[in-house]
Amino acid sequence: QTVFIPRELEENEPRVAASPDTVKRLAGLGFDVIVETGAGTRSRIPDEEFAKAGAVIGKASDAGKADVVLKVRRPTDAELKSYKSGTAVIAIMDPYGNDAAVAALAKAGVTAFSMEFMPRITRAQSMDVLSSQANLAGYQAVIDGASEYDRALPMMMTAAGTVPAAKIFIMGVGVAGLQAIATARRLGAVVTATDVRPAAKEQVASLGAKFLAVEDDEFKAAETAGGYAKEMSKEYQAKQAALTAEHIAKQDIVITTALIPGRPAPKLVSAAMVASMKPGSVLVDLAVERGGNVEGAQPGQVVTTANGVKIVGHLNVPGRVAASASLLYAKNLFAFLETLVDKTTKTLAIKRDDELVKATMLTDGGKVVHPAFAKADQ
Ligand code: NAD
Repeated sequence: QTVFIPRELEENEPRVAASPDTVKRLAGLGFDVIVETGAGTRSRIPDEEFAKAGAVIGKASDAGKADVVLKVRRPTDAELKSYKSGTAVIAIMDPYGNDAAVAALAKAGVTAFSMEFMPRITRAQSMDVLSSQANLAGYQAVIDGASEYDRALPMMMTAAGTVPAAKIFIMGVGVAGLQAIATARRLGAVVTATDVRPAAKEQVASLGAKFLAVEDDEFKAAETAGGYAKEMSKEYQAKQAALTAEHIAKQDIVITTALIPGRPAPKLVSAAMVASMKPGSVLVDLAVERGGNVEGAQPGQVVTTANGVKIVGHLNVPGRVAASASLLYAKNLFAFLETLVDKTTKTLAIKRDDELVKATMLTDGGKVVHPAFAKADQ
Protein backbone atom coordinates (compact mmCIF):
# COMPACT_ATOMS: atom_id res chain seq x y z
CA GLN A 1 0.00 0.00 0.00
CA THR A 2 1.07 3.53 -0.77
CA VAL A 3 1.36 6.70 1.31
CA PHE A 4 1.52 10.01 -0.54
CA ILE A 5 2.82 13.27 0.96
CA PRO A 6 2.02 16.31 -1.19
CA ARG A 7 3.55 19.75 -1.29
CA GLU A 8 1.11 22.03 0.54
CA LEU A 9 -0.59 24.40 -1.91
CA GLU A 10 -1.32 27.34 0.38
CA GLU A 11 1.11 30.20 0.07
CA ASN A 12 1.17 30.58 3.84
CA GLU A 13 1.79 26.91 4.62
CA PRO A 14 5.49 26.03 4.67
CA ARG A 15 5.04 22.85 6.73
CA VAL A 16 5.09 19.29 5.41
CA ALA A 17 3.41 16.19 6.82
CA ALA A 18 6.44 13.87 6.75
CA SER A 19 10.11 13.95 7.70
CA PRO A 20 12.98 11.68 6.66
CA ASP A 21 12.52 9.95 10.02
CA THR A 22 8.81 9.22 9.48
CA VAL A 23 9.40 8.15 5.86
CA LYS A 24 11.82 5.50 7.18
CA ARG A 25 9.26 4.38 9.74
CA LEU A 26 6.46 4.28 7.15
CA ALA A 27 8.62 2.03 5.00
CA GLY A 28 9.19 -0.10 8.10
CA LEU A 29 5.43 -0.48 8.45
CA GLY A 30 5.33 -1.90 4.92
CA PHE A 31 4.24 1.20 2.97
CA ASP A 32 5.58 2.47 -0.34
CA VAL A 33 6.12 6.18 0.20
CA ILE A 34 5.80 8.86 -2.49
CA VAL A 35 6.75 12.43 -1.58
CA GLU A 36 5.85 15.18 -4.04
CA THR A 37 8.88 17.03 -5.29
CA GLY A 38 9.49 20.21 -3.26
CA ALA A 39 7.17 19.11 -0.45
CA GLY A 40 9.82 19.72 2.19
CA THR A 41 11.62 22.69 0.67
CA ARG A 42 10.11 25.32 2.95
CA SER A 43 10.78 23.15 6.00
CA ARG A 44 14.42 22.72 4.97
CA ILE A 45 13.99 19.10 3.90
CA PRO A 46 15.30 18.71 0.34
CA ASP A 47 13.95 15.95 -1.96
CA GLU A 48 17.28 14.10 -1.64
CA GLU A 49 16.80 13.62 2.09
CA PHE A 50 13.36 12.11 1.57
CA ALA A 51 14.80 9.90 -1.18
CA LYS A 52 17.67 8.78 1.07
CA ALA A 53 15.09 7.80 3.69
CA GLY A 54 13.39 5.53 1.16
CA ALA A 55 10.75 7.71 -0.52
CA VAL A 56 10.12 7.91 -4.23
CA ILE A 57 10.02 11.54 -5.31
CA GLY A 58 6.90 12.06 -7.40
CA LYS A 59 4.47 14.65 -8.68
CA ALA A 60 1.05 15.91 -7.54
CA SER A 61 -0.84 13.46 -9.77
CA ASP A 62 0.75 10.54 -7.90
CA ALA A 63 -1.89 11.22 -5.24
CA GLY A 64 -4.12 8.94 -7.35
CA LYS A 65 -1.93 5.95 -6.40
CA ALA A 66 -2.29 6.54 -2.67
CA ASP A 67 -4.17 4.53 -0.06
CA VAL A 68 -3.16 7.13 2.52
CA VAL A 69 -2.50 10.86 2.03
CA LEU A 70 -0.71 12.73 4.83
CA LYS A 71 -1.24 16.49 4.71
CA VAL A 72 -1.06 19.62 6.84
CA ARG A 73 -4.16 21.42 5.49
CA ARG A 74 -7.51 20.09 4.32
CA PRO A 75 -7.28 19.08 0.64
CA THR A 76 -8.70 21.50 -1.95
CA ASP A 77 -11.42 20.34 -4.36
CA ALA A 78 -8.79 19.92 -7.07
CA GLU A 79 -6.66 17.77 -4.78
CA LEU A 80 -9.69 15.68 -3.81
CA LYS A 81 -10.39 14.98 -7.48
CA SER A 82 -6.97 13.39 -7.80
CA TYR A 83 -7.56 10.89 -4.94
CA LYS A 84 -9.07 7.42 -5.29
CA SER A 85 -12.37 6.93 -3.52
CA GLY A 86 -11.66 5.27 -0.17
CA THR A 87 -8.29 6.97 0.36
CA ALA A 88 -7.56 7.76 4.02
CA VAL A 89 -6.64 11.45 4.30
CA ILE A 90 -5.07 12.64 7.55
CA ALA A 91 -4.72 16.41 8.11
CA ILE A 92 -5.82 19.42 10.14
CA MET A 93 -9.26 19.57 8.50
CA ASP A 94 -10.52 22.75 10.21
CA PRO A 95 -14.17 21.74 9.77
CA TYR A 96 -15.89 24.30 12.02
CA GLY A 97 -17.81 26.78 9.88
CA ASN A 98 -16.70 24.95 6.74
CA ASP A 99 -19.71 22.73 6.06
CA ALA A 100 -19.33 22.87 2.28
CA ALA A 101 -15.73 21.68 2.50
CA VAL A 102 -16.73 18.85 4.84
CA ALA A 103 -19.48 17.82 2.43
CA ALA A 104 -16.92 17.84 -0.41
CA LEU A 105 -14.70 15.41 1.53
CA ALA A 106 -17.68 13.07 1.93
CA LYS A 107 -18.64 13.40 -1.72
CA ALA A 108 -15.11 12.50 -2.80
CA GLY A 109 -15.53 9.24 -0.87
CA VAL A 110 -12.39 9.74 1.21
CA THR A 111 -12.01 8.64 4.82
CA ALA A 112 -10.95 11.96 6.29
CA PHE A 113 -9.39 12.28 9.73
CA SER A 114 -9.31 15.63 11.54
CA MET A 115 -6.16 15.54 13.67
CA GLU A 116 -7.25 18.48 15.83
CA PHE A 117 -9.98 16.28 17.36
CA MET A 118 -7.49 13.80 18.82
CA PRO A 119 -8.60 13.17 22.40
CA ARG A 120 -6.24 14.51 25.04
CA ILE A 121 -5.63 11.16 26.69
CA THR A 122 -2.33 9.55 27.58
CA ARG A 123 -2.47 7.04 24.71
CA ALA A 124 -2.85 9.81 22.15
CA GLN A 125 -0.27 12.26 23.50
CA SER A 126 2.20 11.45 20.73
CA MET A 127 -0.52 12.24 18.15
CA ASP A 128 -1.58 15.58 19.61
CA VAL A 129 -0.99 18.09 16.80
CA LEU A 130 -2.65 20.91 18.73
CA SER A 131 -0.06 20.55 21.48
CA SER A 132 2.98 20.08 19.28
CA GLN A 133 2.10 23.11 17.16
CA ALA A 134 0.76 25.34 19.96
CA ASN A 135 3.93 24.75 21.96
CA LEU A 136 6.02 26.16 19.10
CA ALA A 137 3.51 28.99 18.53
CA GLY A 138 3.82 30.02 22.19
CA TYR A 139 7.60 30.13 21.87
CA GLN A 140 7.49 32.04 18.58
CA ALA A 141 4.98 34.57 19.95
CA VAL A 142 7.56 35.69 22.50
CA ILE A 143 10.29 35.86 19.85
CA ASP A 144 8.00 37.91 17.57
CA GLY A 145 6.98 40.17 20.46
CA ALA A 146 10.62 40.70 21.46
CA SER A 147 11.66 41.53 17.91
CA GLU A 148 8.92 44.18 17.57
CA TYR A 149 9.79 45.65 20.98
CA ASP A 150 12.51 48.28 20.85
CA ARG A 151 13.91 47.67 24.31
CA ALA A 152 15.74 44.74 25.91
CA LEU A 153 13.81 42.07 27.82
CA PRO A 154 16.18 41.20 30.70
CA MET A 155 17.26 43.57 33.40
CA MET A 156 20.80 44.66 32.56
CA MET A 157 22.98 46.26 35.20
CA THR A 158 25.91 47.78 33.37
CA ALA A 159 28.60 50.36 34.05
CA ALA A 160 26.56 52.71 31.84
CA GLY A 161 23.41 52.25 33.88
CA THR A 162 20.54 49.87 34.43
CA VAL A 163 17.98 48.68 31.89
CA PRO A 164 14.81 47.47 33.64
CA ALA A 165 13.33 44.05 32.88
CA ALA A 166 10.36 44.04 30.50
CA LYS A 167 6.92 43.15 31.88
CA ILE A 168 5.14 40.47 29.86
CA PHE A 169 1.51 39.41 30.44
CA ILE A 170 0.26 36.13 28.96
CA MET A 171 -3.52 35.82 28.55
CA GLY A 172 -4.69 32.22 28.17
CA VAL A 173 -2.35 29.59 29.53
CA GLY A 174 -3.03 26.37 27.67
CA VAL A 175 -0.16 24.74 25.81
CA ALA A 176 0.87 27.91 23.91
CA GLY A 177 0.57 30.18 26.93
CA LEU A 178 2.64 27.91 29.16
CA GLN A 179 5.44 27.79 26.59
CA ALA A 180 5.18 31.58 26.21
CA ILE A 181 5.65 31.96 29.97
CA ALA A 182 8.66 29.65 29.97
CA THR A 183 10.24 31.42 26.99
CA ALA A 184 9.63 34.93 28.38
CA ARG A 185 11.12 33.87 31.72
CA ARG A 186 14.22 32.46 30.00
CA LEU A 187 14.66 35.83 28.30
CA GLY A 188 14.57 37.55 31.67
CA ALA A 189 11.16 39.25 31.58
CA VAL A 190 8.91 39.70 34.61
CA VAL A 191 5.96 37.49 33.70
CA THR A 192 2.32 37.46 34.80
CA ALA A 193 -0.47 35.34 33.33
CA THR A 194 -4.22 34.83 33.41
CA ASP A 195 -6.74 32.14 32.49
CA VAL A 196 -10.30 31.16 33.36
CA ARG A 197 -9.43 27.55 34.28
CA PRO A 198 -8.38 27.05 37.93
CA ALA A 199 -5.90 24.31 36.92
CA ALA A 200 -3.86 27.00 35.18
CA LYS A 201 -3.09 28.76 38.46
CA GLU A 202 -0.71 26.14 39.77
CA GLN A 203 0.90 25.62 36.36
CA VAL A 204 1.63 29.34 36.09
CA ALA A 205 3.15 29.38 39.57
CA SER A 206 5.29 26.32 38.81
CA LEU A 207 6.86 28.24 35.92
CA GLY A 208 7.76 31.13 38.20
CA ALA A 209 5.12 33.58 36.96
CA LYS A 210 2.39 35.38 38.88
CA PHE A 211 -1.27 34.43 38.32
CA LEU A 212 -3.98 37.05 38.03
CA ALA A 213 -7.69 36.16 37.58
CA VAL A 214 -11.22 36.71 38.82
CA GLU A 215 -11.53 33.58 40.98
CA ASP A 216 -15.31 33.45 41.55
CA ASP A 217 -17.73 30.48 41.36
CA GLU A 218 -17.90 30.66 37.57
CA PHE A 219 -14.07 30.44 37.41
CA LYS A 220 -14.18 27.33 39.61
CA ALA A 221 -16.48 25.63 37.05
CA ALA A 222 -14.92 26.98 33.85
CA GLU A 223 -13.08 23.82 32.78
CA THR A 224 -14.98 21.26 30.66
CA ALA A 225 -14.49 17.51 31.04
CA GLY A 226 -12.18 17.68 28.00
CA GLY A 227 -9.92 20.18 29.79
CA TYR A 228 -10.98 23.14 27.63
CA ALA A 229 -12.44 26.47 28.73
CA LYS A 230 -16.15 27.26 28.57
CA GLU A 231 -17.37 30.50 27.04
CA MET A 232 -17.68 32.84 30.03
CA SER A 233 -20.77 34.91 30.88
CA LYS A 234 -21.04 38.63 30.09
CA GLU A 235 -20.81 39.32 33.85
CA TYR A 236 -17.58 37.36 34.19
CA GLN A 237 -16.11 39.05 31.14
CA ALA A 238 -16.87 42.46 32.64
CA LYS A 239 -15.18 41.55 35.94
CA GLN A 240 -12.20 40.09 34.05
CA ALA A 241 -11.89 43.27 31.97
CA ALA A 242 -11.98 45.47 35.08
CA LEU A 243 -9.24 43.39 36.72
CA THR A 244 -6.95 43.20 33.70
CA ALA A 245 -7.40 46.77 32.40
CA GLU A 246 -5.14 48.35 34.99
CA HIS A 247 -2.58 45.58 34.67
CA ILE A 248 -2.40 45.79 30.86
CA ALA A 249 -1.72 49.54 31.02
CA LYS A 250 1.56 48.76 32.83
CA GLN A 251 2.76 45.97 30.53
CA ASP A 252 5.46 46.15 27.86
CA ILE A 253 4.35 43.05 25.94
CA VAL A 254 0.98 41.26 26.08
CA ILE A 255 0.63 37.84 24.43
CA THR A 256 -2.89 36.48 23.99
CA THR A 257 -3.63 32.81 23.24
CA ALA A 258 -7.23 32.36 24.50
CA LEU A 259 -9.44 29.97 22.52
CA ILE A 260 -12.74 28.16 23.03
CA PRO A 261 -13.23 25.04 20.87
CA GLY A 262 -15.70 25.64 18.04
CA ARG A 263 -16.40 29.26 19.07
CA PRO A 264 -14.90 32.62 18.12
CA ALA A 265 -11.96 33.62 20.31
CA PRO A 266 -12.99 35.64 23.39
CA LYS A 267 -12.30 39.39 23.16
CA LEU A 268 -9.95 40.09 26.06
CA VAL A 269 -8.20 43.35 25.15
CA SER A 270 -10.38 46.29 24.09
CA ALA A 271 -9.26 49.23 21.99
CA ALA A 272 -9.32 51.34 25.17
CA MET A 273 -6.92 48.92 26.87
CA VAL A 274 -4.61 49.04 23.84
CA ALA A 275 -4.74 52.85 23.97
CA SER A 276 -3.80 52.76 27.67
CA MET A 277 -0.45 51.08 26.93
CA LYS A 278 2.81 53.01 26.59
CA PRO A 279 4.11 53.87 23.10
CA GLY A 280 6.44 51.11 21.97
CA SER A 281 4.50 48.39 23.78
CA VAL A 282 3.61 45.27 21.81
CA LEU A 283 0.61 42.94 21.71
CA VAL A 284 0.90 39.54 20.02
CA ASP A 285 -2.49 37.95 19.22
CA LEU A 286 -2.12 34.21 18.63
CA ALA A 287 -5.91 33.90 18.30
CA VAL A 288 -6.10 36.25 15.30
CA GLU A 289 -7.15 33.46 12.91
CA ARG A 290 -10.15 32.69 15.10
CA GLY A 291 -11.40 36.28 15.38
CA GLY A 292 -8.69 37.57 17.71
CA ASN A 293 -8.41 38.32 21.44
CA VAL A 294 -7.28 41.90 20.80
CA GLU A 295 -9.50 44.58 19.30
CA GLY A 296 -7.78 45.98 16.23
CA ALA A 297 -5.62 42.91 15.51
CA GLN A 298 -5.46 42.26 11.76
CA PRO A 299 -4.80 38.79 10.34
CA GLY A 300 -1.37 38.67 8.75
CA GLN A 301 -0.39 42.21 9.76
CA VAL A 302 1.57 44.19 12.30
CA VAL A 303 -0.62 47.21 13.06
CA THR A 304 0.76 50.33 14.77
CA THR A 305 -1.94 52.26 16.63
CA ALA A 306 -2.22 56.05 16.88
CA ASN A 307 -0.48 55.94 20.29
CA GLY A 308 2.44 53.89 18.98
CA VAL A 309 1.45 50.43 20.24
CA LYS A 310 2.11 47.51 17.88
CA ILE A 311 -0.44 44.71 17.46
CA VAL A 312 1.14 41.63 15.90
CA GLY A 313 -1.29 39.36 14.03
CA HIS A 314 0.89 36.86 12.19
CA LEU A 315 -0.93 33.96 10.53
CA ASN A 316 0.16 30.34 10.93
CA VAL A 317 2.66 31.07 13.70
CA PRO A 318 3.89 27.43 13.92
CA GLY A 319 4.76 27.84 10.21
CA ARG A 320 7.18 30.62 11.25
CA VAL A 321 9.32 27.87 12.76
CA ALA A 322 8.42 25.44 9.99
CA ALA A 323 11.50 23.22 10.19
CA SER A 324 10.78 22.41 13.83
CA ALA A 325 7.00 22.33 13.39
CA SER A 326 7.14 19.85 10.49
CA LEU A 327 9.33 17.38 12.37
CA LEU A 328 6.86 17.25 15.27
CA TYR A 329 3.76 17.29 13.06
CA ALA A 330 5.14 14.44 10.94
CA LYS A 331 5.77 12.40 14.08
CA ASN A 332 2.20 13.06 15.32
CA LEU A 333 0.72 11.79 12.04
CA PHE A 334 2.96 8.75 11.93
CA ALA A 335 1.99 7.80 15.49
CA PHE A 336 -1.69 7.92 14.53
CA LEU A 337 -1.27 6.09 11.21
CA GLU A 338 0.59 3.34 13.03
CA THR A 339 -2.61 2.62 15.02
CA LEU A 340 -4.54 2.19 11.74
CA VAL A 341 -2.24 -0.54 10.42
CA ASP A 342 -2.48 -4.27 11.03
CA LYS A 343 1.10 -5.21 11.93
CA THR A 344 0.87 -8.80 10.71
CA THR A 345 -0.70 -8.21 7.30
CA LYS A 346 1.01 -4.81 6.98
CA THR A 347 -2.14 -3.29 5.54
CA LEU A 348 -4.48 -0.52 6.56
CA ALA A 349 -7.11 -1.89 8.96
CA ILE A 350 -9.13 1.03 10.36
CA LYS A 351 -10.89 -0.01 13.56
CA ARG A 352 -14.03 2.10 13.43
CA ASP A 353 -14.87 1.44 17.08
CA ASP A 354 -11.48 2.67 18.38
CA GLU A 355 -11.95 5.85 20.41
CA LEU A 356 -9.20 7.68 18.51
CA VAL A 357 -10.84 6.80 15.19
CA LYS A 358 -14.30 7.75 16.47
CA ALA A 359 -13.07 11.10 17.72
CA THR A 360 -11.20 12.09 14.56
CA MET A 361 -13.03 10.46 11.63
CA LEU A 362 -14.89 13.18 9.78
CA THR A 363 -16.10 11.41 6.63
CA ASP A 364 -16.24 7.76 5.57
CA GLY A 365 -17.96 5.78 2.82
CA GLY A 366 -19.42 8.89 1.19
CA LYS A 367 -20.93 10.28 4.40
CA VAL A 368 -20.08 12.83 7.07
CA VAL A 369 -19.76 10.55 10.10
CA HIS A 370 -18.48 12.84 12.84
CA PRO A 371 -21.34 13.58 15.25
CA ALA A 372 -20.53 17.30 15.39
CA PHE A 373 -20.80 17.65 11.60
CA ALA A 374 -23.15 14.85 10.51
CA LYS A 375 -25.66 17.44 9.32
CA ALA A 376 -23.19 19.01 6.91
CA ASP A 377 -24.05 16.62 4.05
CA GLN A 378 -27.83 16.88 4.30
P1 NAD B 1 -6.88 26.26 23.96
O1 NAD B 1 -5.92 26.47 22.84
O2 NAD B 1 -8.23 25.74 23.65
O3 NAD B 1 -7.06 27.66 24.73
C1 NAD B 1 -5.95 28.36 25.24
C2 NAD B 1 -6.23 28.82 26.63
O4 NAD B 1 -7.14 29.91 26.61
C3 NAD B 1 -6.83 27.77 27.57
O5 NAD B 1 -5.98 27.59 28.67
C4 NAD B 1 -8.16 28.37 27.97
O6 NAD B 1 -8.53 28.04 29.28
C5 NAD B 1 -7.88 29.86 27.83
N1 NAD B 1 -9.07 30.71 27.75
C6 NAD B 1 -10.26 30.49 27.11
N2 NAD B 1 -11.11 31.51 27.33
C7 NAD B 1 -10.45 32.41 28.10
C8 NAD B 1 -10.80 33.68 28.64
N3 NAD B 1 -12.01 34.21 28.43
N4 NAD B 1 -9.88 34.32 29.40
C9 NAD B 1 -8.66 33.79 29.62
N5 NAD B 1 -8.27 32.60 29.13
C10 NAD B 1 -9.15 31.91 28.37
O7 NAD B 1 -6.20 25.38 25.08
P2 NAD B 1 -5.13 24.20 24.91
O8 NAD B 1 -3.78 24.75 24.87
O9 NAD B 1 -5.56 23.36 23.77
O10 NAD B 1 -5.31 23.44 26.28
C11 NAD B 1 -6.60 23.00 26.70
C12 NAD B 1 -6.49 22.00 27.82
O11 NAD B 1 -5.97 20.77 27.38
C13 NAD B 1 -5.61 22.42 28.97
O12 NAD B 1 -6.28 22.02 30.14
C14 NAD B 1 -4.36 21.62 28.77
O13 NAD B 1 -3.64 21.44 29.96
C15 NAD B 1 -4.97 20.34 28.27
N6 NAD B 1 -4.03 19.48 27.56
C16 NAD B 1 -3.98 18.15 27.87
C17 NAD B 1 -3.14 17.29 27.17
C18 NAD B 1 -3.09 15.84 27.51
O14 NAD B 1 -3.49 15.44 28.56
N7 NAD B 1 -2.65 15.00 26.59
C19 NAD B 1 -2.35 17.78 26.16
C20 NAD B 1 -2.43 19.13 25.86
C21 NAD B 1 -3.29 19.98 26.55
